[in-house]
Order: sequence, then C-alpha cells, then structure tokens
Amino acid sequence: MTKLSETVEINGAGHLAIGGVDALKLAKKYGTPLIAYDVAKIKNQVKRFKQAFIDGNVPYRVTYASKAFSALAMYRLISKEGLGCDVVSGGELYAALKGGMPPEKIEFHGNNKLPEELELAVDSKIGCIVVDNFQEISFLDNILKAKKTKISVTLRVAPGVEAETHKYISTGQENSKFGFDVRSGQAEKALKLLLDNPRMNLKGVHCHIGSQIFAAAGFVMAINKMVQLLKAWKEKYDFTAEILNIGGGFGTRYIDSDEPLPADEFVKQIVKAVKEKIAEAKLKFPEIWIEPGRALVGESAVTLYTVGSRKDVEGVCHFVSVDGGMGDNIRPALYQAKYEAVLANKPQALKEQIVTVVGKYCESGDILVRDALLPVTHPNDTLAILSTGAYGYTMASNYNRNPRPAVVFCENGKDKLVIKRETYADMLRCELSL
Ligand SMILES: *Cc1c(COP(=O)(O)O)cnc(C)c1O
Repeated sequence: MTKLSETVEINGAGHLAIGGVDALKLAKKYGTPLIAYDVAKIKNQVKRFKQAFIDGNVPYRVTYASKAFSALAMYRLISKEGLGCDVVSGGELYAALKGGMPPEKIEFHGNNKLPEELELAVDSKIGCIVVDNFQEISFLDNILKAKKTKISVTLRVAPGVEAETHKYISTGQENSKFGFDVRSGQAEKALKLLLDNPRMNLKGVHCHIGSQIFAAAGFVMAINKMVQLLKAWKEKYDFTAEILNIGGGFGTRYIDSDEPLPADEFVKQIVKAVKEKIAEAKLKFPEIWIEPGRALVGESAVTLYTVGSRKDVEGVCHFVSVDGGMGDNIRPALYQAKYEAVLANKPQALKEQIVTVVGKYCESGDILVRDALLPVTHPNDTLAILSTGAYGYTMASNYNRNPRPAVVFCENGKDKLVIKRETYADMLRCELSL
C-alpha cells in the first residue's frame, strides 16, 4: 500500500503543497502552527459519500457531524455542497446558523441537551432533534407546550452493537451513555411516549455505533438490529419510520497502516444491507441518513509547525520540539492517536532518524508523534503532521496560555484565511480585572 507520506502533494520547488499552495509560503504568510485544508479533498469526499446512494437509487441524506470541524467556513462549504449537518450543543447550533446552514437541515444530538439549548433549537425551527433520554423528552415537551409549537424528532437507540475501536469512541453498546437501550425496554417505552405526544413528530430512528470504523460489518449488524426493531414496532404499534439514521464513524486514514473502506464502499454496503433487510421485513423503504464527521474532513488538512529545540539522549531517543502540541491536537494524548509527520521543506529527503515529535506544553504526555521517521531536522524547518482535519481545531485549548492556531482553506493554488490566529489579548477577553 502507498504510504501516506507518499500521497502528499509536492510542488516544483520540492516542497509540500496543500491545494496547490506551497506549505512554506503558508507558514511564512500566516505563521505556525497553522491548520491548512485542501478544499478539493473535502468536496471529493462529499461526492464519494453521495455517489453510492445515487447509484443505489435510494432516498438519503448525508449529514455532516460538525463537531469534527465546526468553523463557519466549513458550515458554508457543506451547505453549498447540499449536505445537512448535525450539532451537539447550543454553540454548534449557533455557529451552524451563522454559517448559513438552512435550519431544516440541522439535526441536534446529545445526551444532556440543556433546556436553553432545546429552546434555541425549537425557536430556530431546526429539522430534527435526536431524542436521547426521558428527561429530554420532558424538557422538550414543556418547551413545545409553552411555545404552542411542534418539532420533528428521531429516537436514538443503543442497538447493542460494539464497534471495534477505542473505548472512548465506541458508543453503540448497551452500557453507552447515549440513547435508549433496546433490551431493557427503554427504547420501546420512549417510542410509546413519542407516539402519544402530539407536539413531537416521530420521523424515525437513529443509532451510532462508534468512530474510526474500518469495515462495513458493524454497520450491517446495526442495520439488521434496527430493522428488526422497526418490524416489531410496525406490528405492535403500527409505527412506520420515514428515516433510518445509522450514524457516522466512518474511518479515516491517519497513518500508513490505516485502511478504512473508501466512503463510497461503505455506503454501497449500507444501501445493500438496508435494501435486503427492509425487503425481508416487508417495511416501507425509509430515507437512509448517515453522519460522517472525520471521514469528510480528516485527511483534507495538515498542521504546519516550526521545528524548535531538540534533545538527543543517545541510545534512548531523540526529541524534536515544535511550536504547537496538545493545545492544537489533543488526540494523541487523549486517545493515543497516531499520526504521520513529513518535513514540509524537504518531503523527499532521505528519512534516516526515528524521533519523537513533542509539543511545547508543560506535560510529558504532550507528544504529537511517538516514532516519526524523518530526515535529520534543524531549527526552523517546517514540519507537517498529516490528516489533522478532524477533531484538531475543535478540541483545541488555550492550555499554558498558548493561542489557538490559524486555519486556512486552500484550493486551486489560492489560500484563504478562515480562522485568525488568537492573540494574547483574545485569550483574556472573558476575564475581569479586579
Ligand atoms: C461523533 C458522532 C458522529 C461522527 O463521528 P465520526 O467518527 O467523526 O464520523 C456522528 N454521529 C454521532 C451521533 C456522533 O456522536
């Protein structure tokens, strides 16, 4: 298989390029750390996710899980591409609306939606609330009663399918904090409540089995369980789902050995499974919804850093420090996530040293790449970490009072700043001097 570092774009000057823009020029123009997106790659993934639905001739909706990267520019791009989005907080909902996402294409998730968040969702007339628990049903009902209005909902089910992934990013199992459990009868109880509620229009069911999933088998299992459930609910309650939402979690390629199915292949197998199961169960064909997050944006960005100090402990390890770290990418520290690094000023130079790329934060766990095979690095080299488009900026923090990085969109040789670098003053804007 081709190495990830061999799939990067290299320009005539022998530098790494992003969407036709020289990485060194970007680093010089905007400073580092800098997250640079190749917009064409995002558009290409959008196309791949849609294509197999179109080929399969089935009703569908691709809803971008915006927690992966919730910039205004991203909402704008995704709405232009005709996608919906899902949000998991009032803040994301606010940003999605500001980013021009049509309210009817917004879906609201979360295991503890606050009353004020639900109120914002109702006032904004969003398309659908994915109801997660009994307290939420009661909060939402109070709001709808007070406002004398209605809203569409789907019911989040924990189908008892466990994706083979990190325990923090696995969510479909029975002991998940998300959704109504099937076996204990919670899901059925919720169904009855929603069917009896004149203010909530129950459109269908939702499940999400986890993240960074490489094969279609887990989705097929989930589809099987969900359709069985729908069949039982049809027989017992005459409930017909218009929407079957099977969530996100489609894998992305962070390192060379990652081999997720391509987006269109995932969808092809999902469409096939839904067609088979729905036909077997003799149910009305539902609209199939999916919610890719990382697979839409993960591989489309690199983070550029400037190499600073180095520490060589002969026979033990070599540390190469960069000017960012866990504040702009917490995933290695949080999930032991792995990444590939490339020297942007000479991506084709002989790789002769295994080093540990560390950040500038006061934590020993502030490691970006544990065993990076790189050419010998020097201060002021520009180092790129690949596939940082998902859950990088959105999980960024100001730990150690480091400003969050700038973000730039690159396409056809042009670059556009979409998020400014924070300043020291920005970091103090909420503080009161006493
Ligand atoms: C996080 C999440 C997603 C997206 O997950 P990815 O791994 O980024 O695709 C989709 N749906 C729900 C409900 C989620 O919680």
